[in-house]
Amino acid sequence: MKRIISLLICSALLFCGCQKENKPDSQTEQEDGITILQTGEQIIAQMFAMDTFIQVTIYDTDLSGEKIREAMQSVRTMESIFSATDPESELYSLNTSGGKTTAVSADLRKLLTFSTEISQETAGCFDVTAYPLIRAWGFTLDTYRIPSEEELGELLPSVDYRNIELSEEGVCLLNGAKVDLGALAKGYTGDILAEQLKNIGVTRAVISLGGNIVVIGQKNDLTGWKIGVRDPIVTSQNIGYLEAGDCHVITSGGYERYFEGEDGRIYWHIIDPKTGYPAENGLISVTVVGESGMICDALSTALFVMGEENAITYYQEHEGFEMILVTEEGALLISQGIADHFTVYEPDREVITVCKP
Ligand code: AMP
Ligand code: MG
Repeated sequence: MKRIISLLICSALLFCGCQKENKPDSQTEQEDGITILQTGEQIIAQMFAMDTFIQVTIYDTDLSGEKIREAMQSVRTMESIFSATDPESELYSLNTSGGKTTAVSADLRKLLTFSTEISQETAGCFDVTAYPLIRAWGFTLDTYRIPSEEELGELLPSVDYRNIELSEEGVCLLNGAKVDLGALAKGYTGDILAEQLKNIGVTRAVISLGGNIVVIGQKNDLTGWKIGVRDPIVTSQNIGYLEAGDCHVITSGGYERYFEGEDGRIYWHIIDPKTGYPAENGLISVTVVGESGMICDALSTALFVMGEENAITYYQEHEGFEMILVTEEGALLISQGIADHFTVYEPDREVITVCKP
């Protein structure tokens, strides 16, 4: 499975700018599971972490493999903080603290503080306390099932971001609340990894963290990187591509994780915290583009839950991000800041530019 994912991601990255197929001059894999491949034109670092395949393609070929390896290890550090399922993780300790105030690291505090802010701003469409619902649907451990309405009803009272109480001493989870950072931890990890890479001198690179892409610098003096956006219906192909530099491009899609219930219906992993059911508000994919991976990741999930109309209103009332929405009818809504930089493959597809008032 990892191998298949690895091949898929490699082809996505080829599209991002490395046109030539190069034989590695050297390849090293160590016990830490990080592989570094060096060719004359690029250095590729790969690892499996956070339940996903991660690949970094660096075009500053004079950099040392060891320094890149150290930067990649920051992903493991983030995983050891944010995993909801690893009994050794910091988040696991918080979730099992039984409502006691628990001291937390700066990274966990940052994500929890931001999460409560964005929950408030998105009227609870984004809510990191949705964990009991996500678990009930089996998305945490791939043990998919359809919970009864009664079961979901019993879980809903603990799902409320206001149950996260932050103080100088630490964090207290009230009313049996439990946290899942799956909607923004990868985005934040992209921020940390990009920062570490820049610190060691990387000026041109493409990071792929599951469905999240981070580009550092420009592809070359004339053009940005070409970043494909997956077609949420025919997932083996892209709907089009964005040309951009120095940004995060993060997609939330129902197709990324779902199961078919015994009733023949499709249930996906993005949950409406108000109903307890998978969010079905007319959107099947949301891509958010911006400078902060943490913000883009949280917003991609939140706008998916909001649905088309509310997502447009949210865009019009907020600054600092651009978006590409795909509706269940297959229409593409592209925000004005990136509309001229996005190429749509199918000439017949309905494309609407979303403008600020
Ligand atoms: P993403 O792919 O970034 O949209 O994140 C989806 C993941 O976020 C899911 O697998 C859940 O772990 C979690 N999640 C699902 N629904 C929500 C929600 N409404 N608010 C916050 N996190 C959620
Ligand atoms: Mg997200």
